[in-house]
Parts: sequence; structure tokens; C-alpha cells
Amino acid sequence: MSDSSAAADGADGELAPVTTGPPQARVPVLIVGGSIVGASAALFLAARGITPVLVEKHPAVSTRLRAKLFYPRTMEAYRSVGADQDVYAVQRRLPQADHAAVVDSLAGPELRRWPLPAAADFSAVSPCQSAFVKQADLEEVVRAHARAAGADLRFGHRLLDLRRHEDEVVARIRGADGGTYTVAADYLLAADGNGSAVREGLGIGRSGIPVAAHVMEVGFEADLRRVLDGRPLALAYTGPPDHAFLAWDPAHDRGTVSVMFDPAVTDPSAFGDRWRRDFVSRALGLPPSRFTLTESRVWQMGAWAADSYRAGRIFLLGDAVHVTPPAGGFGANTGIQDAWNLTAKLVSVLRGHADPRLLDGYEPERRPVGRLTVEQALLRFRGRAPIPIEDRPLLSEAAVAVGYRYPVRGDDEAATDLPLVDEPDRWRGEPGTRLPHLPLSGADRSRSTLDLVRDGRYLLLAGPEGQPWVHAARQLDPHGAFLDTAVLPRQIPSAKTRPAERCGISDEGALLVRPDHVIAWRASRAVPEHVTVLTTAVRRALGAVDEAVAEHS
Ligand SMILES: Cc1cc2nc3c(=O)[nH]c(=O)nc-3n(C[C@H](O)[C@H](O)[C@H](O)COP(=O)(O)OP(=O)(O)OC[C@H]3O[C@@H](n4cnc5c(N)ncnc54)[C@H](O)[C@@H]3O)c2cc1C
Repeated sequence: MSDSSAAADGADGELAPVTTGPPQARVPVLIVGGSIVGASAALFLAARGITPVLVEKHPAVSTRLRAKLFYPRTMEAYRSVGADQDVYAVQRRLPQADHAAVVDSLAGPELRRWPLPAAADFSAVSPCQSAFVKQADLEEVVRAHARAAGADLRFGHRLLDLRRHEDEVVARIRGADGGTYTVAADYLLAADGNGSAVREGLGIGRSGIPVAAHVMEVGFEADLRRVLDGRPLALAYTGPPDHAFLAWDPAHDRGTVSVMFDPAVTDPSAFGDRWRRDFVSRALGLPPSRFTLTESRVWQMGAWAADSYRAGRIFLLGDAVHVTPPAGGFGANTGIQDAWNLTAKLVSVLRGHADPRLLDGYEPERRPVGRLTVEQALLRFRGRAPIPIEDRPLLSEAAVAVGYRYPVRGDDEAATDLPLVDEPDRWRGEPGTRLPHLPLSGADRSRSTLDLVRDGRYLLLAGPEGQPWVHAARQLDPHGAFLDTAVLPRQIPSAKTRPAERCGISDEGALLVRPDHVIAWRASRAVPEHVTVLTTAVRRALGAVDEAVAEHS
């Protein structure tokens, strides 16, 4: 049965024999990596009734300062599983921090300040605003929700190696007590980060720039309240000679100052204690008595995407398949969207509603987004390091993070030759794009069309005269096991555009929306045979008819 063996975790070298461990039933999904992408995948699955096991080699989540901003499309995914409000609650406890600045030093004159693009008002296109919280805080919220939904999160458990079979993946894991055990899973999700041993073990290559820059990052502790003096800054840059980058965590009086260096010119050993103290002192504009140095690290900033996101029953996601320079704040957001896309498909397949061929869409949908995001982050980074990169148009952050489209075919002649990405408010319900957000009338004005997509089910969303589509949907799925229905209102008070028009359909038309909010199919107007047409559309959306997405990518 075994078709091949794959990754071993290179870090610790020697593999212990299988000895002890929890009695092991087969699990539907095993997730490797418990940082933001793995934890999000666990939440998205568990919240829809698929209980995953997650293993994370570290005993606790990293508190390193990394992602700080989470775009609306990310927050929409958390909203779907009821976690968004806890994230905003963390943000409300912190001082406002949604601007960037160029400074002489943090305590010195501020030369220029601008709002981060994620701080823009997204209310016209999303029920969610961006969230500004540090990654570790977000991970804590996501983990708590995942656990509450039943996910089995095992910290201090390390994947040692795995074997791929036709009908399962068997992983060998070293538990927190040092004993090893095996887990057999229908599917394995590798969210094991930049250096992914799973990716390496599978021999999957990377395209792009493995090392776009070398970074020296120096940690410090300091009370920055007086220095910031109520300014709504999330990060800052200094000018010459250092060109330093400053980030901090206002809740914990700690931060980092980073600088890029060329190892051909500067040996990292030059960054001794004295250099670090003077460097941080210049960047903060404070004497050394006002701060304490903490840990430092040298790290390499990559800009690449993996050549494949899948090997049989193993799917890779997050930094395991794409790494972007931090400019734009896209990295974690892109990984969370990998998880959102993939878990929606897995839920449909594992519930028995979709054909496993549905999973074939993951890579052709997510890899172009990963490549585009890396390219856009690199364009933002150009000028800060000498990187060979083709001149491409710089897209807005809203377009990159919210406005991308998947190459989904939906019988829609009006929707051919579309760009991969556009401003979110320019899409009109084209297949492959995200369902337009429209505020729904009723007692709760904050309800959105996106909220009509629930619990991992598909949605038939008809125009105001689209009752025949609703009847067709009920014939197809009489008890609403996988297909919900809703009818768009004719008009929304205060909205300029009629809802049907905003979705690119006539009053007699309809959309089929996937559980990840993506439009699978659109009928712009009425047709003679609603049931026949919808049956084909639903079968294709559930993977039972070849989607052939790759042709369109
Ligand atoms: C300075 C900086 C600023 C950033 N700012 C932003 C931002 O503003 N917005 C944004 O979206 N992104 C940002 N990013 C990027 C973001 O931090 C990453 O994209 C994100 O952490 C990727 O998450 P991940 O879960 O895919 O991988 P990781 O965070 O790398 O996690 C992988 C996990 O897998 C575990 N693991 C590995 N091997 C095994 C094994 N064998 N067994 C069990 N567990 C294993 C690891 O311990 C780790 O916890 C920033 C990054 C940096 C460095």
C-alpha cells in the first residue's frame, strides 16, 4: 500500500522507534504546525464539525513580533466562525496603532506620517474592518476558538516523518513526554513554515528569490509610552545612516529594531553588544539607561512561492508555500486564506457532499494568488534592497489582499478574460470573485450578504424574481444538507446600486456561492430549465464535473 515515504523533521536528526502515545484512531485531518496558519485551519475545520488533530513542535506559540495587520478578507473568515469579535476586543484594549512614520528617532522629530493602507475604511466592500493586533494575540484567540470547537491541539508534539499511502497518510510524532506515536489521517495539512520539512521531504522546489535580504534584528525592552506620546504609530523607519525599521508591542513594553546588511561587506559578528546598544539608542532616541537589550537574531528575508502546493493527500499552506517580504503585511493573511480555501473544500468532501476531485482546485486557485502576493510585496520592498525584479504595476493593498479572483469557470460568457486581481468594489459577482458585501436590511443592520453563507454549506442566492432557482435548489437538496437558499432584496435603503445589479444579475438571475464566499457560478438571467442548469452548476461546484480551472490560470 505504501507508495512513498516523505518528510522527516531535520532539526533533531535521529528518529526514535515507535513506542508509546495516545491510543490512535484514524483522524480525518492532521495539521502540522500550530502557528497562525495551522491554528486557523484547525478552527475553520472544527467550527464546521470536522475534528482535526494539530501538532506543534514548540510547547507554546512564538511571541516574536511578526504580523500586525489582518485585512478584511481575513477577518471575514474569522467572522464566519464567530472569532472576529474577540480579535477586535484585543485591539480595543490597545492604544490605536494604524499609522507608519519616518522619524529621526522614535523620540525625536517625526518627518512624515501616513495611515497604513489596511487602516482605510473598508465598509463599502466588507462587513469587517482590518484588525491591528500582534500575531501572537491573534493566535491565542484562534487557538481558544479552535479548542472550544473541539480541535485537538497538541503543543510540544513534533512530526518526525510520514508515509504516504493511497488512502491515508501515516505520521510519526514525538509527543511532549518524549514518546513517539503514529497518527493515520485521511489528509495532512503541512503548515510547518518557511523551512517546511514536509515540503523539503516531498522534493517540492521553490521559485523566486530565496534570500532577498539579510536582516539583523535587535530586541529591546523599554517603556515607550512617553516616547510615543499618544501617537497612533504601528511602526517607524529611520533615515540615513542606519535606515532602521522599528516595531514594538505597546502592551508589553518591548520591540525590535532591524537593519538590512550585506554579508559580503559586513560580517554579522560585527553586531556586538556595543554596536547593538548604540544602534537601538540611535533608533529610539533614548540613552542606554532607558532600555534593556533582549534577544537578537539574524534572519533571511525570502520572496518565493513553492512549485506545488500538493502531493496526493498532503496539502501545503502558509509560509510552507510562499514567503513574502513584510512590506504590505500580506504573509500571514495569504496563509490564512490558503487555510480558508482548502478547509472549505475538505469539509464538503469529508461530509460526503463533494467529490474528492474538488480538492484539485486548491493549487490552481491559491498558487497564482501566492505568486502575485510575493511579487507585490517585492515591488513594495524595491528600493530598500538591490533586488532584480520585473517592472509590474503596483496594485493597491485592497486589491492584493481582498480583490483577487480564482480561475473558476461558471458558464458565464460575460466573465471571460478577467484580470486575476482588481479593486474589490469593481467586481460584480463574476465567478471566482468574492461575493459582494451588501448590508442587509432588518433589525441588525450589520448583517451582510456574506453572513448568508453558513456552516460550510453552499448558497443559492437568487435575484428578487428568482424563485424558480430557489425551487430548483430545493429539488436538488430537499433538506438543505449542503445547499442553502436566499433571495436578494429589491433595494437596500441608502444604497445607490440595486443588490442584483451589484451581483451582476437581473432580477431573475442567481449566484451559486461556495462556503469560502467565492462565486462558483452565475446565471445572469432566467433560463428555460432551472433544475437542469442548476444541477450541472452544483455538480461542477462540488467537484463532480471537471472544473478544468488550470486551463484558465
Ligand atoms: C518581521 C515580520 C513582520 C511581518 N508582518 C506581517 C504582517 O503585518 N502581516 C502579515 O500577514 N504577515 C506578516 N509577516 C509574515 C507572517 O509572520 C508569516 O507569514 C506567518 O507567521 C506564517 O505563518 P505559518 O503558520 O504559515 O508559519 P510559521 O509562523 O512559520 O509557523 C510554522 C509552525 O510550524 C511548526 N513546525 C515546524 N516543523 C514542525 C514539525 N516537524 N512538527 C510540528 N510543528 C512544526 C513551527 O514550530 C511553527 O510554529 C511578518 C513576518 C515577519 C518576520
